[in-house]
Amino acid sequence: MTPIKARLAAAADALAGELESISHRIHAAPELGFAEVQASGWLADFLTAQGFAVERGVAGVDTAFRATVETGAGPTIAILCEYDALPSIGHACGHNVIAAAGAGAGAALAAVRDALPAGRIQVIGTPAEEGGGGKVKLIEGGVFRDVDCAMMVHSFDRNVLHQNLLGVTRAAFEWRGRAAHASADPWAGVNALDACVQTFNAIAMLRQQVRPDCRIHGIITDGGAAANIIPERAAASFSVRAPSIAAMWDLYERVVACAEGAARATDTEIEVLRHDVVYEPMDSSAVLLDLFADNMRALGVALDEPVADRTASSDIGNVSQIIPTIHPWIAIAPRGTAIHTREFLDSAASPLARAGLLAGAKAMAMTAADLLASPGLLARAKAALASKPQ
Ligand SMILES: [Zn+2]
Ligand SMILES: [Zn+2]
Repeated sequence: MTPIKARLAAAADALAGELESISHRIHAAPELGFAEVQASGWLADFLTAQGFAVERGVAGVDTAFRATVETGAGPTIAILCEYDALPSIGHACGHNVIAAAGAGAGAALAAVRDALPAGRIQVIGTPAEEGGGGKVKLIEGGVFRDVDCAMMVHSFDRNVLHQNLLGVTRAAFEWRGRAAHASADPWAGVNALDACVQTFNAIAMLRQQVRPDCRIHGIITDGGAAANIIPERAAASFSVRAPSIAAMWDLYERVVACAEGAARATDTEIEVLRHDVVYEPMDSSAVLLDLFADNMRALGVALDEPVADRTASSDIGNVSQIIPTIHPWIAIAPRGTAIHTREFLDSAASPLARAGLLAGAKAMAMTAADLLASPGLLARAKAALASKPQ
């Protein structure tokens, strides 16, 4: 390990108690997306104390922040924190650990700023990953415009460099028919629920024809008012996921066609409402991942194989489509503990979480130091992203 990396690791260790306490505080006070007032405040306070210039509330998002340490003209490396919780089961995705690891990586870099090659470290607080698309709003607000690359770690039950994250787009359908007495005059009605059920059936058939790495799932949000009334209104909402942007939009069109075809078949009117936040697929930067992997090994952390088939989505995908980005997964729970469960919630405040937090913080700080020291690597990562087919 180079002297600067040894110093980074030591700096993270020196802050371990404080980082774990931030993680535990966030864990004990779960806040939903865009309402992470305490979490973002604690992180901003900590980073201010570590010498960062902190902007609270960026791109019009109150619970986002941007903390900057600059050592001269050079590239800008972003380390991202997530800190939103899930409804009803709190920090069962371990975003409290993500937050503390990101802040810890930044703090370690700030602690050795005298020895860092010229450049800028930004710790960016990105709210509302669980559905709100905080990073999409920050991208739209220009927060990543002058950022050269981004990294974060995500809590998991093993150490994995890359897991596919599918692009996801959402649509809501509303069908309008005509109410009638379901026994006295059923022929006078136009059954909107039939259109909804027909849509589910058509999509169930479509599913057989899609690739196994795509996902379509939906719920009925309005199925009528009473069994003795032909439903005049029905509504459903669907998520459509695929591993590439092109495949996602292709599949989305097929799903919309199912709903429109069902409307035609049932003589109902349809309205299609496309959700305005789209999560794009994850495109990990191989250049950055190689550095991160070397640093994990240097820290004595063994890396595991990716878990095939278990794919979710995240707004980090959108960041990965515009700048070189990595989103490695860090073990904070016993193997086999799935995220979004009560068991994972408990693990997110356990000694294992402390170990994962520190490994993630150190490996990110060391990777940032590598990138500042060799701007050619960043150029290579950017060229690789620019040449990727969509
Ligand atoms: Zn989650
Ligand atoms: Zn998560």
